[in-house]
Amino acid sequence: MTVDECESCSDLGVVVEIRSPDELSKAIRAIRSRLTDRSVEEITQRAHSPSGEFLDLSEAGPWPDYIEHYFRCMRCNRRFRFAVDTYHGGGGDWDGGIECY
Ligand SMILES: [Zn+2]
Repeated sequence: MTVDECESCSDLGVVVEIRSPDELSKAIRAIRSRLTDRSVEEITQRAHSPSGEFLDLSEAGPWPDYIEHYFRCMRCNRRFRFAVDTYHGGGGDWDGGIECY
């Protein structure tokens, strides 16, 4: 099995743009389900986690101004960075997404 075919994270393994509260809600839900079924684990270092525990994030908001978390696929060991600047939750374009690193 190649990394690209990993069942646990293949759909996280592309750059997912997050430009709106709706997209952020969907992304949080997708990652949360993987954390819950233990296909992915959070590897965020405390010092780099302005938004606390990922599982404490609300799916519906309100959210911190800046969200940044790191994850590792338990199956293939691929790592992901999830980062979103919400600009106080309104106005302007959000800058965020999920990417491999
Ligand atoms: Zn994987």
